[in-house]
Amino acid sequence: MAARFTGSFTRQEPIPEEAIAAAVAVMRAGRLHRYAPGESEVAALEAEFAAFTGARHALAVASGGYALASALRALGVGPGEAVLTNAFTLAPVPGAIASVGARPVYVGVTEALTIDLDDLAAKAGAARVLLLSHMRGHVCDMDRLMRICDAAGLTVVEDCAHTMGAAWRGVPSGRHGAIGCYSTQSYKHVDSGEGGLLVTDDAELAARMVLLSGAYMFHDRHGAAPPPESFEPLHGTVPNVSGRMDAVRAALLRPQLRRLGARRDAWLQRYRTVEAGLRCVPGLVLVERPAVETFVGSSIQFLLPGWPAAAVADVVGRCAARGVELKWFGAARPAGYTSTYRHWSHAPAVPMPGVDRILRATLDMRLPLSFSLTDCRLIARIIAEEVRAVVPPRPSGGDAATDAAAGPPVG
Ligand SMILES: *Cc1c(COP(=O)(O)O)cnc(C)c1O
Repeated sequence: MAARFTGSFTRQEPIPEEAIAAAVAVMRAGRLHRYAPGESEVAALEAEFAAFTGARHALAVASGGYALASALRALGVGPGEAVLTNAFTLAPVPGAIASVGARPVYVGVTEALTIDLDDLAAKAGAARVLLLSHMRGHVCDMDRLMRICDAAGLTVVEDCAHTMGAAWRGVPSGRHGAIGCYSTQSYKHVDSGEGGLLVTDDAELAARMVLLSGAYMFHDRHGAAPPPESFEPLHGTVPNVSGRMDAVRAALLRPQLRRLGARRDAWLQRYRTVEAGLRCVPGLVLVERPAVETFVGSSIQFLLPGWPAAAVADVVGRCAARGVELKWFGAARPAGYTSTYRHWSHAPAVPMPGVDRILRATLDMRLPLSFSLTDCRLIARIIAEEVRAVVPPRPSGGDAATDAAAGPPVG
């Protein structure tokens, strides 16, 4: 009988005991509020996250989605304004744009699953702000992206929900743009259930985001906020859109942040194990990671380029029957966390056939740290067997690239 994987793709690692003890201490003391007097877990987390990313300022907030919206608000993005963003991302990204009344203008995706920089260059004049989503942890050529954006006067906000702990050429993800936004929701790289973080070097933007988060007159109780002078001209001009993080979640996060490097190593081992098992499978294309990208392999993607939808759906179904959960961005209806720009009818977009072609081919799998390397080998074996079992299409046209991708392995 064919081997089956019985682990759970949604079971996260337990919270470290040290973090549980810190959270319990906060509760015992009855000091959950973000501005409870005395030693503040929230302020300490902000100081530690600023140091971790090398940013001057950091702010802990209620969610990653809140962080994105707050960054846009701080930049003065308002109703009707166009905001450039990735066509390949998750629903909270266009959602953050919609939450300030603005409208997303989507930029294409490459087969490396990063933003299409040629398309970005072509559209750069259409907006003031780029909300760049490092979707599934794939970091684009940030040097070229910043050249394009600087030349066009585009301000970059980075959605680092999948890149906390990642870097491009040694620069931490979130530190190229004006503002970096992170999520501490359970399925990201540190887990407080829900939560988010913001970083910036810009004192005025930081002050605006602190006030937006509901600082009342307690901005001096923040851990990595700018000095009082930065707040003076802003009082009364910035609305209170309450959403700072509470002390329990901050207490849960501080010990996890200290372990993030070790967790990144553990994820990389799992990622490389699955990747090795999927090499040389006919018709299956892996995303080769650039040498200058430090990534956190909390999920893995691969493409079945040129495959008919029914064949991809067949692979997904056969893997699911053996306990392996693949997510497909090509499905007609959104499933689970997977939806695409075509489904976001609150933010209508012109059809993007190049994006559709890549999304139709893209499969995505979570790699929780609760999986062992043995689990990862079994998972890769199951996917490889099922992809081989579903015959890849014989391309009808003379498209050499599709031919090579869909044909048998070379060598
Ligand atoms: C999770 C996620 C967000 C939003 O984070 P929350 O903390 O869940 O609000 C934003 N962007 C991407 C790409 C995400 O995966």
